[in-house]
Amino acid sequence: MPIRNKYNYENVEGARVGRLNSGINSTFIVYRMGSTLIDAGPTNQWQPVKTFISEKPIKQLLLTHHHEDHAGNAAKIAKMANIVPFAPELSQRKLKTGYKTPIMQKIIWGSPQPVETQILPEEVFLEDGTKLIPVHTPGHAKDLHCFYLPEKRWLFSGDLYISKSLRYFRSDENLEQLIHSMRKVLELDFEVLFCPHRGIVEDGKQALTAKLHNILTLCEKAQSLKAAGVETPQIVIDLLGPEDMMALMTRNNFSKTNMIEEALKVTKLAA
Ligand SMILES: [Zn+2]
Repeated sequence: MPIRNKYNYENVEGARVGRLNSGINSTFIVYRMGSTLIDAGPTNQWQPVKTFISEKPIKQLLLTHHHEDHAGNAAKIAKMANIVPFAPELSQRKLKTGYKTPIMQKIIWGSPQPVETQILPEEVFLEDGTKLIPVHTPGHAKDLHCFYLPEKRWLFSGDLYISKSLRYFRSDENLEQLIHSMRKVLELDFEVLFCPHRGIVEDGKQALTAKLHNILTLCEKAQSLKAAGVETPQIVIDLLGPEDMMALMTRNNFSKTNMIEEALKVTKLAA
């Protein structure tokens, strides 16, 4: 499978890879600025990722979190470039030992490969001196970090954004934390958002604000239905429609019910 699409935005280059092309959640963009890579892409896409990173020498690899679409090729890149990737401290154990993924994820991304990493420092610099600040944004995953470039007003968002509205939620995601992380990031002065699934979002702050608004509205609606005595399965149907192939294929790891169950738990709805 070749590179599906290439991106250029000032000094940022991106390559979209993916075995399947069924929506943005089955493909992944590896971003590069000079000799710095942000995330490594999934293992079953090593060939196109290798083609992309072979264009220039790589001097540092920054990982946003341990998920296999982001960190899958980190071991191969480390070996090829003779570097030790940077990763959040909370990601390191899973990255080192490897971990099991559900069958659907194996089909879409391949299996993660164990990799030794070093802890992300509080600030990272590109070779031209541009500063990146890792920002801890748990919710989607406990270890997720975004990378903020204050001078450029850019945000590499890992899996914080992906989409303006959420309909499905992973069983291990925490919506309350996700909301807190979005509020934290929205306090930063940024404009363009680089999402490894959605792509380059030029009105990124507006898009992330819209996502937060949509989630809070869903929480309010779910909670008022619950207060009126509606049972959770019916709230799922009323607000998101019946469960579909997604829940079936992922054995409820990724479902609308997870979304509503989390929406019912959120306490701080007002900013
Ligand atoms: Zn993820």
